[in-house]
Amino acid sequence: AVVAELETVTKRYREGSFVAALLGREPTTDALVDASVAVREGECVALVGRSGAGKTTAARLIAGLEAPSAGSVRIRGEPVGPVAERRPAQRAAVGYVFQSPRSSLDPRRTVAESVAEPLEGAGWNPARRDRRVGELLEHVGLEGYGDRYPRELSGGEAQRIAVARALALEPDLLVLDEATSALDTVTTHRLCSLFERLGRRNGRSMLVVTHDFDIARRLADRTLVLADGRVVDEGPTSELLSEP
Ligand code: ADP
Ligand code: ADP
Repeated sequence: AVVAELETVTKRYREGSFVAALLGREPTTDALVDASVAVREGECVALVGRSGAGKTTAARLIAGLEAPSAGSVRIRGEPVGPVAERRPAQRAAVGYVFQSPRSSLDPRRTVAESVAEPLEGAGWNPARRDRRVGELLEHVGLEGYGDRYPRELSGGEAQRIAVARALALEPDLLVLDEATSALDTVTTHRLCSLFERLGRRNGRSMLVVTHDFDIARRLADRTLVLADGRVVDEGPTSELLSEP
């Protein structure tokens, strides 16, 4: 079964008129053109391609952080709008981890408060929330970190907390948008072990946006290659990104 998908989606952004005038062209950018991206149950899909290819746009559309200009976004086959228009269950269906944990974590909230926030929004009572927060912190290897503030965390730790928060409501799909690209090699490697555990071993469906083929090879069952907003290649990662 398909968990989440973009069906022949086009996303057109308006550029600033100054830039458009400078370049002497149409003041729009087609970040995606008739792109179809589907993630099936238990599958990890990598979206690869150069900077500007449309990877982040595709991920943001699936999460409802942007609305398509044409085509449809579906969750379990059902067309969905942007996140503000989604029903609570549809909203909970996608967990999103941004490139920078600074974008996922509020500096004024403790780790426990950040992880509890989606649970609070979903109406969980405090006792049940606390238990779930404890479970989630343990799951990402950071039990005991509940009272810390984001500034007291390393980049890798902050990203683990962002993952815990994204997993709070058991999403059908976890989206990792260049989730390791701000981190050093060793931290990336360790975070990837967590992602492997979530994906291969726990059967969580994942969409991994990355410009790093090693990460795609390590995590993804299937890879889609984007170029200029189009899906130009697609297949099992082992075939598509086989090492030379
Ligand atoms: P990638 O993630 O592959 O680097 P993006 O999806 O971020 O690519 O961007 C695809 C194209 O859309 C780029 O040309 C980018 O400049 C443009 N773009 C992305 N977001 C916006 C936006 N909010 N407004 C205007 N153009 C955008
Ligand atoms: P990333 O490396 O994750 O693609 P970027 O620096 O390209 O990050 O983009 C950061 C944010 O700016 C994103 O939310 C993206 O949608 C937006 N963005 C990217 N390109 C443009 C653009 N040309 N005009 C306006 N916003 C953009």
